[in-house]
Amino acid sequence: MLIIGAGLAGQRAALAAAQTGATVAIISKVHPVRSHSVAAAGGINAALNPEDTWESHAFDTIKGSDYLGDQDAIEIMCREAPNEILWLEHAGVTFHRSETGNLGTRAFGGASAARTYYVADITGHAILHVLYEQLMKHSATVDRFEEWFTTDLLQDDEGRCNGAICRNLRNGELQVFDAKAVILACGGAGQAYKPTTNGLIVTGDGIAQAYRIGARLMDMEMIQYHPTTLAGNGLLITEGARGEGAQLFNAEGERFMEKYAPNKLELASRDVVSRAEQTEINEGRGFPDGTVALDITKVPRRRTLESLREIVNIGRDFAGVDITREPIHIHPGQHYIMGGVKTDIYGQTTIPGLYAAGEVACVSVHGGNRLGANSLLDTLIFGRRSGEHAAGQALHMPMPSTPSTRVTSTEKEIRAIINRPQGGRRLAAIKDELGETLNQYVAVFRDADGLRTAHEIVRRLKEQARSATIDDHGTVFNQDVIGAFELGYMLDCAEAIVVAAIERKESRGAQFRTDFPQRNDDEWLKHVDISVNGEDVPTVSYSPVTITRWEPQERSY
Ligand SMILES: Cc1cc2nc3c(=O)[nH]c(=O)nc-3n(C[C@H](O)[C@H](O)[C@H](O)COP(=O)(O)OP(=O)(O)OC[C@H]3O[C@@H](n4cnc5c(N)ncnc54)[C@H](O)[C@@H]3O)c2cc1C
Repeated sequence: MLIIGAGLAGQRAALAAAQTGATVAIISKVHPVRSHSVAAAGGINAALNPEDTWESHAFDTIKGSDYLGDQDAIEIMCREAPNEILWLEHAGVTFHRSETGNLGTRAFGGASAARTYYVADITGHAILHVLYEQLMKHSATVDRFEEWFTTDLLQDDEGRCNGAICRNLRNGELQVFDAKAVILACGGAGQAYKPTTNGLIVTGDGIAQAYRIGARLMDMEMIQYHPTTLAGNGLLITEGARGEGAQLFNAEGERFMEKYAPNKLELASRDVVSRAEQTEINEGRGFPDGTVALDITKVPRRRTLESLREIVNIGRDFAGVDITREPIHIHPGQHYIMGGVKTDIYGQTTIPGLYAAGEVACVSVHGGNRLGANSLLDTLIFGRRSGEHAAGQALHMPMPSTPSTRVTSTEKEIRAIINRPQGGRRLAAIKDELGETLNQYVAVFRDADGLRTAHEIVRRLKEQARSATIDDHGTVFNQDVIGAFELGYMLDCAEAIVVAAIERKESRGAQFRTDFPQRNDDEWLKHVDISVNGEDVPTVSYSPVTITRWEPQERSY
């Protein structure tokens, strides 16, 4: 099996596949422990306390999703969560323990119980390193290809995905990887926005590669803006801060969440808090730098220094603020994509042989809005399920074989990029314009005119990207060539996001249309799916939302 991506989803899939008996290649364009999961801060959800229930976790997730989440998948995720936490703990993740010695929790947004397990504010880092250690135990059956970049997914004559073409970043060598099954675990697409909390490597590669071979994408319009990001650079101040008791204030000193979510206040779901902040800013009650204030001094100083130490550093190094002594200015910023490659509850996409798990996928457990600390859970549960299922299928299949000459077309493509005449726009300039466009028109508030403008700009940028100039003509770690591929992926993701946002003519979860401000279950309680016809034109279709036992209700916090 081939697993593309070695963040939490990819490594969990690899472990599960190896334990099921498959031989695995796992590929990552960076060293695995530099995958973006390493940045996850606040924690991971599970209803593990005896007084909590998986049903309560499921209901919170469904309500958080604004009833767009598929309830069969959400049930699975919430039922399986407690055992996954215990499995991680036994594997070596040093989760925080309470004074009684039990695993300790913190509160998170949209949750009716404190069910977020954490390691200070480095939870992703802690889990990713433990999974990597565990992977070492399987070195006889799991081959790691670190700093290899997948450029294309391969299909046989029947359309089954049977491998990929990958480039060794160290020397530029291209190779065909044959595989009985391929699991995409390539993460999200946050770099299509500017600013974003996501690192430079999060460029939508997996979403675009699957889309290009005909896989369906789902819920792409649902882009999460996190309520607390630093002005200017987009760095995240974890929701763990509000979980520990930090409060939000406008420039008039008003604790404005009392108006918008009188019961949950700062711990309403992210879409609600981000909209509240943006409304305060738009109506002139923010600070001149377009922010509101997050007051972490409400948290006892000792507790902040112990359990939020990374954001103490971020505040000091990137904003010049000692968050233990004064409020810090924040605003909503792009953080997560709820949509992705459409899958079933085993991670199977609409392309036979191709699976997806983690942020690249849309199963859809997050629907219109993800609850904080549910993403790490999603990566692990559906990473494991994909690994087990794909390995189970692969055990009974013959090994496919694609001729090594299949790399010729990719070789030509790379040569054409390197030989582009000077004079085109810079990759970085196109990327900046894309990010700023999405952040202006496809953000917390949207309308038809803005979305149409965004679509026109994305189409123009796609054209310009074809002749964008690069400087590096070498083969060793040529980041310019990789950058050209990544820009293409981000533009494909951006177009799917914009087209889906234009299509959904209602407000639900993270999609707030000022021209259609109400949720409209009669017409829009359905997923918007996007696929591409051979002409690079996105096509829209719909799929039903799975409802098991929780009928849609009005949503308030
Ligand atoms: C700052 C921050 C804090 C967060 N905190 C939390 C939190 O506390 N709790 C929570 O639940 N969620 C959190 N999230 C969200 C969560 O971290 C991510 O959604 C999740 O970690 C994504 O994991 P993944 O395995 O899907 O992808 P990633 O960890 O992004 O891994 C993607 C992998 O794919 C590889 N890859 C990509 N493209 C290619 C290619 N073309 N070729 C080869 N390899 C490729 C990369 O090298 C990498 O190995 C946070 C997100 C951010 C940005």
